[in-house]
Amino acid sequence: MEAVTVFTKNNRETRGVARVLARECAGMARRKRALVLGLIGDLGGGKTTFTAGFAKALGVKERVTSPTFVLMKIFKLGARKKFRHLIHIDAYRLESARELAALGWKEMITDPRNIIVVEWADKVKKILPKDALILKFKYLSADMRRITIIQNAVRKN
Ligand code: ADP
Ligand code: MG
Repeated sequence: MEAVTVFTKNNRETRGVARVLARECAGMARRKRALVLGLIGDLGGGKTTFTAGFAKALGVKERVTSPTFVLMKIFKLGARKKFRHLIHIDAYRLESARELAALGWKEMITDPRNIIVVEWADKVKKILPKDALILKFKYLSADMRRITIIQNAVRKN
């Protein structure tokens, strides 16, 4: 398990962390399956802010907002890009991993051209791929956040 911790003192810095990670992801070796980022941690911790920065860095022009009420939003990334779709899921209102299955989760994670960001991923951790990147957001004070990025987290699937 490898973990990196960063502290941010405003939204711009959190979006900056997202931008750096988005570039890493765009430069990754070819994958067999989708790349999944599981975002967990405090309400107001910056999960949606991070996702907005991440999307922008991947070329998404639309404004990214919390998909809490629609559960999922799919953004096209362009035919020449390594990743064709950014899928933004908010699991906050999901009762179980089974509800995510009903949204077509299996198909989503099978396609290596998908990059999937799941907010409140701990609600559906049973069905996250083992190689998902886990990002923990900790609310420290009004503007301070601690973001821990965990790679290859050893979890029982
Ligand atoms: P979550 O999706 O985790 O509930 P949001 O990204 O929706 O969190 O909300 C984070 C809130 O905190 C936003 O209103 C944002 O402006 C504010 N904020 C203040 N400082 C930071 C920071 N360092 N990183 C991210 N958001 C911050
Ligand atoms: Mg959110």
